[in-house]
Amino acid sequence: MAAAESDREVPSALCTEFLNFSVKDTASKWLQVTDLYKEVYHHLARYVPKIYCLGPNLNPQSEDLLAQMLLQAPLEWYLCGEDPSTGLAKLEQNNQPSQLCGHVFKVGEPTYSCRECAADPTCVLCMQCFLGSVHKEHRYRMTTSGGGGFCDCGDTEAWKKGPYCQKHEPNISDSCHEDPLAHLSTDMIARCYNVFSIVLKYAVDMLTWDKEDELPPGLEPPDRSDSYYCMLFNDEVHTYEQVIYTLQKAVNCTQKEAVSFATTVDRDGRKSVRFGDFAFCELAKSVIVRNTSRQSKPLRVQVMHSSVVAHQCFALKALHWLGHVIGYSDALRRILCQVGLERGPEGENSSLVDTLMLCDSKMWKGARNVYHQLFMSSLLMDLKYKKLFAIQFAKARMLITEENLMTTIIRTFVDHLRHRDLQGRFQFERYTAQQAFKFRRVQSLIGDLKYVLISRPTEWSDQLREKFLEGLDTFLELLKCMQGMDPVVRQVGQHIEMEPEWEAAFTLQMKLTHIISMIQEWCATDERVLIEAYKKCLTALTHCHSGFADGEQPITLSMCGHSVDTIRYCVSQEKVSIHLPVSRLLAGLHVLLSKMEVAYRFPEQLPLSELSPPMLIEHPLRCLVLCAQVHAGMWRRNGFSLVNQVVHSVLWLQIYYYHNVKCRVEMFDKDLIMLQAGASMMDPNHFLMIVLSRFELYHIFSSADCRKRYNRETANKDVVQQNNTLTEEMLHLIMMVVGERFEAGIGQVEGCDEIKREILHQLCIRPMAHSELVKALPENENKETGMERVIDCVASFKKPGVTGRGLYELRPECAKQFNLYFHHYSRADQSKAEEAQRKLKRQNGEDTALPPPVLPPFCPLFASLVNILQCDVLLGMLGAVLQWAVEPSAGHWSESMLQRVLHLIGMALLEERQQLENSSEDNDFNFTLKMSRPGEAPSNTASVLALLENLQNAPHLEVHKDMIRWLLKTEAGIKTLRERSASTSTVTASGSRGQEETACDKDKAERKRKAEMARLRREKVMAQMSEMQRHFINENKELFQQSLEELDASTSTSLEHSPTSSDAALVCVGPRRSRPREKRQVVTCILCQEEQEIRADGKAMVLAAFVQRSTVMSKNRKRPPHDPKRYDPLFMHPDLSFGTHTGSCGHIMHSHCWQRYSEAVQAKEQRRQQRLRVHTSYDVGNGEFLCPLCECLSNTVIPLLPRTKGSSSCEQPGLGQWLKTSGQQIKAMHSAHRKLQPVSTVEETVEEECPAPEVFTVNYIPTNPYSSTIKEMLTTFGTATYKVGLKVHPNEQDPRIPIMCWGSCAYTIQSIERLLVDEKKPLFGSLPCRQDECLSSLARFGSACWTAACQPTVQGHFIRLVAALIPDPLVEASPCILDVDMLHLLVSVVLSYGSVHSQDSSGLSVDAVQLHLFHLITVAHMVQILLTSGPEEVTMEQESGEAERGEEEGACRLYNTLRTHVGSSLPEVGSGWHLWRCVKTGILPYLRGAALFFHHLNGVPAPPELHALCPGQWEVLCGYLSLPSNLLQLFHSQQELLEPLLHGWCTHPGVQQTLQGGGVLVSFPRESNSLIDLPDDYSALINQASSFTCPKSGGDKSRAPTLCLVCGSMLCSQSYCCQTELEGEDVGACTAHTFACGAGVGIFLRVRESQVLFLAGKTKGCFYAPPYLDDYGETDQGLRRGNPLHLCHERYRKIQKLWRQHSITEEIGHAQEANQTLVGIDWQHL
Ligand SMILES: [Zn+2]
Ligand SMILES: [Zn+2]
Ligand SMILES: [Zn+2]
Ligand SMILES: [Zn+2]
Ligand SMILES: [Zn+2]
Ligand SMILES: [Zn+2]
Ligand SMILES: [Zn+2]
Repeated sequence: MAAAESDREVPSALCTEFLNFSVKDTASKWLQVTDLYKEVYHHLARYVPKIYCLGPNLNPQSEDLLAQMLLQAPLEWYLCGEDPSTGLAKLEQNNQPSQLCGHVFKVGEPTYSCRECAADPTCVLCMQCFLGSVHKEHRYRMTTSGGGGFCDCGDTEAWKKGPYCQKHEPNISDSCHEDPLAHLSTDMIARCYNVFSIVLKYAVDMLTWDKEDELPPGLEPPDRSDSYYCMLFNDEVHTYEQVIYTLQKAVNCTQKEAVSFATTVDRDGRKSVRFGDFAFCELAKSVIVRNTSRQSKPLRVQVMHSSVVAHQCFALKALHWLGHVIGYSDALRRILCQVGLERGPEGENSSLVDTLMLCDSKMWKGARNVYHQLFMSSLLMDLKYKKLFAIQFAKARMLITEENLMTTIIRTFVDHLRHRDLQGRFQFERYTAQQAFKFRRVQSLIGDLKYVLISRPTEWSDQLREKFLEGLDTFLELLKCMQGMDPVVRQVGQHIEMEPEWEAAFTLQMKLTHIISMIQEWCATDERVLIEAYKKCLTALTHCHSGFADGEQPITLSMCGHSVDTIRYCVSQEKVSIHLPVSRLLAGLHVLLSKMEVAYRFPEQLPLSELSPPMLIEHPLRCLVLCAQVHAGMWRRNGFSLVNQVVHSVLWLQIYYYHNVKCRVEMFDKDLIMLQAGASMMDPNHFLMIVLSRFELYHIFSSADCRKRYNRETANKDVVQQNNTLTEEMLHLIMMVVGERFEAGIGQVEGCDEIKREILHQLCIRPMAHSELVKALPENENKETGMERVIDCVASFKKPGVTGRGLYELRPECAKQFNLYFHHYSRADQSKAEEAQRKLKRQNGEDTALPPPVLPPFCPLFASLVNILQCDVLLGMLGAVLQWAVEPSAGHWSESMLQRVLHLIGMALLEERQQLENSSEDNDFNFTLKMSRPGEAPSNTASVLALLENLQNAPHLEVHKDMIRWLLKTEAGIKTLRERSASTSTVTASGSRGQEETACDKDKAERKRKAEMARLRREKVMAQMSEMQRHFINENKELFQQSLEELDASTSTSLEHSPTSSDAALVCVGPRRSRPREKRQVVTCILCQEEQEIRADGKAMVLAAFVQRSTVMSKNRKRPPHDPKRYDPLFMHPDLSFGTHTGSCGHIMHSHCWQRYSEAVQAKEQRRQQRLRVHTSYDVGNGEFLCPLCECLSNTVIPLLPRTKGSSSCEQPGLGQWLKTSGQQIKAMHSAHRKLQPVSTVEETVEEECPAPEVFTVNYIPTNPYSSTIKEMLTTFGTATYKVGLKVHPNEQDPRIPIMCWGSCAYTIQSIERLLVDEKKPLFGSLPCRQDECLSSLARFGSACWTAACQPTVQGHFIRLVAALIPDPLVEASPCILDVDMLHLLVSVVLSYGSVHSQDSSGLSVDAVQLHLFHLITVAHMVQILLTSGPEEVTMEQESGEAERGEEEGACRLYNTLRTHVGSSLPEVGSGWHLWRCVKTGILPYLRGAALFFHHLNGVPAPPELHALCPGQWEVLCGYLSLPSNLLQLFHSQQELLEPLLHGWCTHPGVQQTLQGGGVLVSFPRESNSLIDLPDDYSALINQASSFTCPKSGGDKSRAPTLCLVCGSMLCSQSYCCQTELEGEDVGACTAHTFACGAGVGIFLRVRESQVLFLAGKTKGCFYAPPYLDDYGETDQGLRRGNPLHLCHERYRKIQKLWRQHSITEEIGHAQEANQTLVGIDWQHL
C-alpha cells in the first residue's frame, strides 16, 4: 500500500511547518490586511488538507491539536486583538447569562409539557426546570425526547402561565435590558463581526458543498494528491444486515469492521469505508452499488477527494469552535446571531442560517447535529433573536403575514402530487414503498402547515386576513383536486379495469384531517374571514359541480301528494367517491355561520340565495348510500371472483375509516351535517323523496299499495334481504338528520356537551379504562380529547386492584340520555349497548323499553329539520312498515326496521311534548294529530296510531311491547297536555294531577310486580348454579378426592397427636421423636385416574417438577461462575451464591404414564418443528414438558417414596460413645475404600490395616428395597438435578449426583423458609399442598438416593462432610467453618448417612445419629454466628429476665473461649445480652429450616403453636427439634468433648484469613434479598437512563437502556454494540447479564418502553406489566400516553414475590402458551 507509506511522512513535514508557525504573527498580519476573507481562506486552503484526512485511519486527537494550534488560535488572537487567554477572560467577566434555559435534550431524556399552559405541544421543559415550575401541579404530559430539542423555560411566548422555573426566574434588579454590545469597543465588534462572518460562511459553504472533486474558489489546495475516500451514506431503505453484508464484499473487511462501519453510518449519516487512489475507491463504489441495486435503490456512495473531506471535517470543527467562543460572552452571541441572519447578496431567504436550513435535507446527520447544536446555543439563547429566528423557522401569524408561508407550503405540496385525472383530480399509483417515500415528504409539509396554524390568532389585521384567505384559496385548490378522487363503480361483469388503489388517497385524507379542522377554527375567530371563506368554499364547490347533471334527463318523484324533480342517478350503477373534502369544509363553515350567528346578523353578505340544497346534499348522500349498500352486501353479490372479493374488502376498509374516530370528524360527521344543512332549506317531503330515490327504495314506498308490496314481490330473496337492510339504514339516516344536535351551531348546546355525550355512549356499552376512552374519542392536533374536563360529570372512577386497571363507570342518572341510535355506534357497539342497557333496566326492575332521549332544541338555522318528523312522506313510510309488521306472513320485513320506526315515532312524540311544554301558541308541530289520521281514499289505510294499538297485542312482537306501550302512554300524555292547554284554565290543575297520580300508582304497582318477578328469576338461576356445581363435583369426584386427600396428608396428619407419646410434646428428630400412626398413602394418577398406594416395592408414582439454578438468595453476585466440570458442590458457601431450586405443581402420575405422555409430546414436537419450524414455550430437547393437568412448565419428575420407618428406640449412646463408634466406622470405610481403588493410585503408606470393628460390616451389601420403576425414577430425578444444577450433560455415573440432590433439598427448604418470613406466614400449615408435597418427596428422595449410586462414593461424601466438623487426618482440604452453610451441611450429612447405616450392625439407631449430627452442627453454627457477629450495635440494652441470664452468661463464656482460640481478630464484647441476641436471631432461620427438613423427612406432625404466628415460638421450636431452649447448654454440657473440636475450627487458617478481611464474610441472619428500590416518579428513571451511555461504544447513547431489577445494573440492550458471545452464540447484554446475575433468569425494566422483561435461558422470555401506573390506574407500555407515572408498590411486590418463589420461568411459560407470538421473538438478542 503505497498510500499508507507516504502518509507517515506528511506529519513530519508538518512538524517543521508547525515549529516555524507563529500564532501572533499570523494574527498580526491579518490585522493589517485589507481583504481578510481572502487571507483567511488562503490560510485554510494551505493548512486544512495538511491536518485532516491524511490516511485511512483518522487520528482525531492529533488532528484536533494541530487544528487548535494552526487554525483556531490565530482566529482567537485576531478576535481579541491580544493573547486570547487574557482577551477571552475579559469578555467572560461582562457576560450576562441567558434567561432562557435552552437545555438541549439527549436522546431518551424526559421532557414535560403542560397541557394547560403550553402555547403549543412543542413547548417543553427539561426535568430540572419542570420540577422547579408551577406546572408540576398541573395536568402535564411526559415524553422521552428523540434528541435534539431544547428546553423552553424562560420563553414567555411558549407559556401562557409560569414561563420561568425557580432557577430561571429573572432577577428584577438586573432586568434592565441593557444592550450586550455596550461593553465592547467598536474595534472589537468589527473584528468579531469579521471573524464570525468568514468562519460561518466557510462552514456553510463546506457543509452544503456537493462536488466530490472540487473545492469552492479560494480553497483549492496548493498541491493536489491522488488520494480519495469512498464515502458511504445513510439511507432509510437498507437494513443493517444488508449494509454489513455488502461492505464485507466490497471493501474486503471482517464482519466486525463492517458492523462498526454500519454503526457509524447509522449514527453520523456517513462514513468513509476506503481510502486510496481514485481507481481503488471507484472499485469499491461500483461493488457496493452493484450489490445493493438489485432489490431497491442502491446505497448512496461517493468517491470524494481527500481535501474536500478535510475541509468538511474542519467546517464541523469550526462550528464547534463558534459555539465554544460565544459561550464566553452574550455579546459575542449577539454578534453571531446578527451574522447568521443577515440577508445575503441574493436577497430574501439568503442569510447563512437560511442557506443551512434550506440544505438541511441534503446534509449528512453528523453535520446536521452540529449546526443544530450551534443554533440552539446561539439563536435560541438570545431572546431578541429567538423571535427573529422564529420568523425563519416558524411561528404562526407572522409567518403567514410576512412570509406567506401557508401558500408556499401548499403550493409545494400540490407540486408533489403531480398525477391527475382528466378532471384534475389526484390519481395515485399503486401505494408502493417508493410512494410511501414520496409521501414522507408530503407528510413533513403537512407538519409545517400544522405548525403554522397551531396557534390561532386572537386579533386579526387586514394583512393577516388577506394572507390567510390567499392561503385558503390555495388550500381549496388542493381540496378540489381531492374532491371526488378515487371513485368506485360497482362491477357487474367479471372484468375489472384497474386494481383498486385507495391507500394513498386515504392516507392523504387522514393527514389533512387536522389541517381542515384547524382552518375552520381560524375562521371561527373572525366574522369577516368566515364570510369570505364561506364564499370561496361555495365557489369551489360550485366549480366542482359544474358539468354535474348535464344532459341528464330530470325525473319527477311523487308521493303522498307531493312531487319533486331530481336527476336520474344510481349509486349502484355509476361512479361514486368517498372523498368530498370541499363539501365537507363547506358543511363545517355552514355550522359556524349558525354558531357565530353570522347567518342572522349579516344575511345580506352571505350568498345563501345561491345555495341549491339538492346540489349540496347530492354527493354526501351518495356517499352515505354507498355505505348502506356495502352493509347490505350489494357490492359483493356479483360473482365470486377474487377480484370482486378484493373490491369488496377494499370498500369495507374505506367505509371503516370513513366512520373511524381518526377520520370521521372531517368525513362522516360533515356529510351528515351537509344533509342537515340541505334538508333544513328544503321541503321535508322533497328531501325524503330524494333520499328514498338515492337509496333505490323509492319504488317500494311510492306505490299506492306499498303496504302490501311483499305479497307480490317475492322474486329474489337476496333482493328482499338487501332492501330490508337498506330500509333500516335509511330510517337510521333520517333519525340522525333530525336527532344529531350536539354540535354547537346545530343544536343549542355548549361546546362540552358533545364530548360528554360521546363518553356517555361509550360507557353505555361497558365500563372502560381511561386509555380505551381516549382511543374512542377524536383527538385534536394537540392530541387532546377534552375528556378530562367533563368526565366526572358522566362517570365515576373505580380504582384497580393488584391486576387490571382502573375503570370509569357511567353515573346511573346519565343512563336516561342513552340513545340506541347514537350516530357513532357501529352495529356491533349498538347491539352491545342495547344488551347492556336492557340488562341494567331489568336489574332495576324497570320495563325494558329504550325510548329516545330528550334532545336539545335546534339552532334557528336548522330549526325546520323537526318538520321531517311530521311530514306526509315520513308518515307514509312509518305506516307502511307498521302495516308489514302487523301482517308478517311474508316475513319480508325485519324487527330492526320496526324498532327504528318505533324510535322515530318516539322522537316525534318527544319533540311535540317538548314544544308544547316550552313554547307559546305559535307552534304547528302536531304529530299526534297526524298519527291518528287514517290514510285517504281510495286505500283508506289505518292510521299510525291504530296500527300501534294493533301491534300492542301481536304475539310475535314480545320484545317491542314495552316500547309500544311507552309510545302509547306518551301519546296519551300529549293529548291531555294539549287538551289542557286548549281549554286553558277550565280544567283544574289538581284534576289532572289526580289523573297523573293514578297513572303513577299504576306504574308503581307494575314496576313492583316486575321487580318481584326479577327476584324470583334470580333465585331460580342461583339454584340452578349450585345444582350445576354439585353435578360438577360428582362428575369429577376423583379429582376432588385426590386434592382432599393431599390436604389430608399435609394438614390432618400434622395436627394429629402421636399415639405413642400421647401427651408428650411433638419431637421431630432423635430417639425421642414422635411416631406418627402408620397410614396407607394412596394417590390418584392424573393421567389414567387409577389409584395407587405409595410403597417401596410398588409401581413408582412421580410428581411433575421443575429444577432450576437460582441466585435468588445470593449474598455475593460477584462470585464468578464455577467451572462445571471441576466444581465440587459438596459444601455450600454461606453466601449461597448459586443454588438449585426444585419446585412442583403437585400433580402426581404413574411413572409409566408420565413416560408414555412425554414420549408422545416429544414425537409430536419433533414432527411439528420439522414441519413448521416453530418453537414451543418449552424445550423438548432439554427434557421440558408441560404438566398434563395444569400446563405448568416442568423438566423432571420426583418419585414419591414411603415414609421411613423409625426403629424402636432402645438405649442410645451419648455423644462421647457415638464419636468413638463413628470414628471407628469411618476408619474402617477408609481402608475398605482404599482397597477398592486401583493399585497404581494407592499411596505407599505404612499405615496398618485397620480391622473393621465388629459393629460394622464393610462388605455387607444391603438389599435395595425399591422396585425397578422406583429405582429408575431415582436415577431420573438425580440425573436431572445434576444436569440442570451444574449445567452439564447428563451422566448417571457422576459421583456428584447425590450431592446435587441434597443441595437442592437444602436450598429449596431455605428459600421456602425465607418466603414464609417475608410473607409473614407461620412456619407450618400455610404452604400450599403442592409445596408440602414437593418438600416431602425431596427429603425422602434425598435419603434414598444413595441406593441409586455407588455406595462407597456416597460414604466418601459422608466422610468428607463429617470431617468438616470432626478433624480427620485422612481427609484433605476440609473447608473452614466460616465457608460452610450449616443447613446444607445438616441436610447432606443426614441424608448421606443412610449409606453408612446400611452396613452398621452396632444397633446405633438412625435417630440417635441424626440427633448427634444435628446437635454438633448446631454448635458449629453458633460458633459461626459468634465469630461473624460483628461489633456491638449501639442499641439500648433491655432489662432481661431471670431466665435469659443463663443464656447471656453462656454466650459470654462461649465467646470468650472463642477469643482464646482466635485471638485478637475477634473484638472484645462485654455484653452477654448482645451476644445472646446475635445467636438467637442468627440461628433462627437455620432452626426453622431444620424443623421443616425433619418434619418432612420423618413425617412428624408439627406442634399447633407453629401453625400460627403466636409468641413463644422459640421454646416450641427448640422442643420440636429436641433442643434445650438455652442452646448454649449444647456446648457447655459437653464442653470436654467439644472443646478440642472448637479449637480445631478456630485454628483453621481459613478462619483467621476470613476474619482479617481475606474472604467473603457473611453474617447471620442473612437478610432476604429484595428487588432494587425504584423511584416513585417514573421520570426519574427516564432521566437516569438518558444519561446512561453504552459501555462499549465510547460514550454513545444506548438505544434501549435496560435496568436489572435484581442488582440495579443498567445495560445497553437489544443492540449490536453490546452483544457478547455466550456458549458459542451471540447474545444481547440482558441475556449475558442473566447468566452472571441470575443464573439464567432475569427481571429487567426496559426504561424507554416502560415494560418489565422476564428472561429465562436464551430462548424464553416475556413482557410483563410494569409496576408503574398513571392516575387512571393504567400502565403505559411504550410510553405512548404520556401521563405521569408513579410506582405502585403492590404490583412491584407482586413481581418480587414471583422472583422470590422462583416462578419467573413458570410465568414466562404461561405467557408464551397464551400468546404464541412471544415464542418467535429472539429473546437472546435483548
Ligand atoms: Zn430547562
Ligand atoms: Zn428553567
Ligand atoms: Zn401549567
Ligand atoms: Zn397412571
Ligand atoms: Zn400440574
Ligand atoms: Zn443484575
Ligand atoms: Zn451498547
